[in-house]
Order: sequence, then structure tokens, then C-alpha cells
Amino acid sequence: MTVTMDTLVSLCKRRGFVFQSSEIYGGTGSCYDYGPLGVELKNNLKRLWWRDFVQNRPDMVGIDASILMHPMVWKASGHLENFTDPMVDCRECKLRFRADDVDTLAWTHYCEATKGNKFTIPAGEPCSHCGARRTLCPDCGKGELTPPRRFNLMFKTFMGPVEEEASVAYLRPETAQAMFVNFENVLQSMRLKLPFGIAQAGRSFRNEITPGNFIFRTREFEQMEIEYFVNPRDTVEGRPADEYWHDRWIADCMAWFRRYGLREENLRLREHDQSELSHYSKRTVDIDYRFPIGWSELMGIANRTDFDLKQHAKFSGKSLTYFDEERKEHIVPYVVEPASGVDRALLAFLADAYTEEEVRGEKRVVLRFHPELAPVKVAVLPLLKKRDEIVKAAHAIRATLAREWRVVYDDTAAIGRLYRRQDEVGTPYCVTVDVQTVGDSDKGEVGDGKVTIRDRDSMGQARVPIEALTGVFRDLLSGGDWAKVASEFPAAK
Ligand code: ATP
Repeated sequence: MTVTMDTLVSLCKRRGFVFQSSEIYGGTGSCYDYGPLGVELKNNLKRLWWRDFVQNRPDMVGIDASILMHPMVWKASGHLENFTDPMVDCRECKLRFRADDVDTLAWTHYCEATKGNKFTIPAGEPCSHCGARRTLCPDCGKGELTPPRRFNLMFKTFMGPVEEEASVAYLRPETAQAMFVNFENVLQSMRLKLPFGIAQAGRSFRNEITPGNFIFRTREFEQMEIEYFVNPRDTVEGRPADEYWHDRWIADCMAWFRRYGLREENLRLREHDQSELSHYSKRTVDIDYRFPIGWSELMGIANRTDFDLKQHAKFSGKSLTYFDEERKEHIVPYVVEPASGVDRALLAFLADAYTEEEVRGEKRVVLRFHPELAPVKVAVLPLLKKRDEIVKAAHAIRATLAREWRVVYDDTAAIGRLYRRQDEVGTPYCVTVDVQTVGDSDKGEVGDGKVTIRDRDSMGQARVPIEALTGVFRDLLSGGDWAKVASEFPAAK
């Protein structure tokens, strides 16, 4: 099923994933705040990326660079000159558009053939009454558009107390440049051999002309980028090393998104054609995702050749080379760049996880997150909140499990409703403590010390001794098989 953006936005607000920034003041243009569940989801996403692409690989290291960098960085990288979008303004209503977006927007038309009636006409189509095509502002339909002007997307600020040209600084529009600028530092301090990669996850800022579509395109966002350096003179499996590694990274990134839940039918690769390629790129491939707004870029993987290191060497006057022991010569490595956005990936995982189904005549909304992504791993629920022993046991179980995972306790509704609430935020497992668990001391009955685990996806149940819970969850939460647990610890019918 394809979920709409409105449904996601509303769920995100209602359940504490994402809020409009500064909402009580009317909101800040296209900035968003991650709420209690959103921050857990985002942290999990970044942690998995780091674990799989940095921690687990012998050929990768990470850095965490500052957002404000030397202004020369942006001169060398070409951002000062080229990081621009063509922009047009409506002379009447003053709205501003990306020139390349204008033809893809629906347009407003006051049709003479129908006594000036107002119509909204789909992008690229003529008016069905008079045959006119859009020439005016797509929004108000009345104003002429200015010729395109180039607009630099970098946020400008000033370092220190004096606002003068000499103290201009920029908020970084991408994390990548810090990896090039630190190439020599990392190479020497870590004694690395090619091929190796440097990764970084952090904030980037772009003064987008037309941000929008929720967290898909914002002005402040997070990126997860890798610069993977290879020796262009090497060959791997009979192919130039840069080309081989480019394909390897495309495959590895696709596999990563699939592994954590994006469905095959919602993913595709898109090769940039020659006219679209940046001047430094030998080849760029995007991983597109079928977002609620249609197929759009999820991440890009570019072969940037030796452009960046050469530029920074030229502008800094420092040598940014690698000594090839075998050939006894200094070379400038090529770089393959898998560049992804945290917020955009999070939106894709949310959209793919969203499911509505009917259970016993009622609608059930479930976020089928991979357990490692899910913001809350386990919810501990007392079946009766009036029974002290039950509540005490439930709190104790929460405290034990919380040493390893994000675990919540909830007793604010009846059990059926509590399950639904956890389904809606994607909690993979609930633990229910009941009378049988603790027994009834008034009647002299002792408890069995077991609790019910309820699986989000199948809604199946298992009855597990409290002391076995941590072990069972270690297995389940790292991708273990629910059916195995259910058969080892059967619930009473
Ligand atoms: P787009 O064409 O969508 O503007 P881009 O090609 O300029 O993106 P890159 O510079 O390749 O993007 O950045 C790498 C990744 O960073 C993108 O694939 C995307 O996931 C993320 N990203 C870029 N700009 C934004 C933004 N304004 N808001 C959220 N994420 C972004």
C-alpha cells in the first residue's frame, strides 16, 4: 500500500516522531524537530549505518568535523561559484521558484474562453477550454516571471564580532569536504593503505529555494557521507579500481537499504546521463525510492575522480598525495562518494514500514520497522494496574531490559489499546505481566514467573520465564526468528 504524505505527517506529530520547528510561533520554514520517538529512530539509523559501514569494516575510519570551515574550502570545492540554483520571481505575487521546477508545477489560469474562470491545470498541459499554455506565475497566474538568476544555496554568516567581508563564513552545505581537507591527517595518523574510506555523519545546511515535502527537502538536515579513496592505477578483477569500487558501493548501499526494510519494488537505480553529470564526475548513480511524492533521490553514489584532492592541493599549497609503494611514486587517489541523507532515509523507512490492516473488524495501523530501527524495542504492560505485585514486577522487568534497549512501561489503557498504540509506533515486542506471573498471595498461590511476549507482526504470543527474557530479546532484536521462540516457549491456548 502507498501511504500519503499527509498520513505520515499526522502520525509523526501525533506520536512524537517529528514536529514543525518553533510551531508555537507559527513554525520556521521547512525546519523540523525530532520528538522523543523520532530521535530514537534517527539515532538507530545513524548507529546502524556507522556499525555496518565503519565499525565492521577494516578499510573504513570515521571523523566528526566542525560545521564552520575555512572559507577557502568552498572556493576550492567550487561551491562558491557553482553551488547555485536558477531562481525566478513572480513580478506580481513575489513568490519565488526554482526555474527548473516551474514547468513541473500545476498552474493557475484565468480562462478568457470561460469568462475569466479560474482553473488549476496540471503541469505541462494546456487549458482544455482555450488551449493556452502557462506563461505566467504558476501560483497566482497573473504575474510575469523574471528571467532566471543564479542563487547560491550556502548560508552565509560572520566569524567574530565584526560583520565585514573578511570575516564571512559559511555553514557547510555538505559533510564531504571535511574528508578531503583532513585526507593527509587521517592518512598519516592511521597509517592507512589504499583503498580506504573516511565516513562522517552530521548536519548540513542549504538555503533551498523551494524546500518542502516534509523532511524530504529541508534547509537544515543531516547527511551520512563516505569518501572512499582508491588507487586509479590499480585493477580489481580486471577492471580499473575506481570503477570496480563504484559498483561495489552501489551494490552495498542497495543491500543496506533492503536489509533494514525497504522493499525491492520501491527501490531503483538511476544512472545520470552525460548532460546531468557534474564536471568532476566520471559516473554518478542515484538510488531512488518511491516516496509518497513519487520516485525521488534517496542517495547518490558518485565517482568524483581526483578532482577534490587536486583542488584542495592547488588552493592550500599542500601536497595531498599517496605514496604508491609498489610503483614507487606519488599518486592522487580517486574517490568514490556514497552520499546519503539521514532525514530522507528516515522518511523512506517510515513510508515503507507503514501498514494498515483489518483485525477483527477494526483498523490496525502498524509500523513494521526492522527491530534494529524501531525506536522502542519492548513495551512492558501490566494486565491489571491495581495489583501491586503485577505493577512492581512490570517495573522491574522494564528496568532490567532497559540496560540494553529502549524499553517503556505503559499502564494508561486496557491491554488491547496498549498493543495498538505500540503497533502504531512500530514496537516489535510487548511483554505482559499478569496474575499468573506473580500468583495471588491472598489465596496462597505462587506465580509461575513467566510473562507473555506478543509479536507485533504476527500478533502471536509466547510464554517466557522472566529470567530468560534478556536472552530471548538479544536474539529477536538482532533479527532472530519469532517462530523459533514461539515454538520453544508456547503460550497456553
Ligand atoms: P537533490 O537533487 O534532491 O537536491 P542533491 O543531489 O543535491 O539532492 P547531494 O548533494 O548528492 O544531493 O546530497 C546527498 C544526499 O543528501 C541526498 O541524496 C539527500 O539524501 C540528502 N540531501 C540533500 N539535500 C537535502 C535537503 N535539502 N534536505 C534533506 N536531505 C537532503
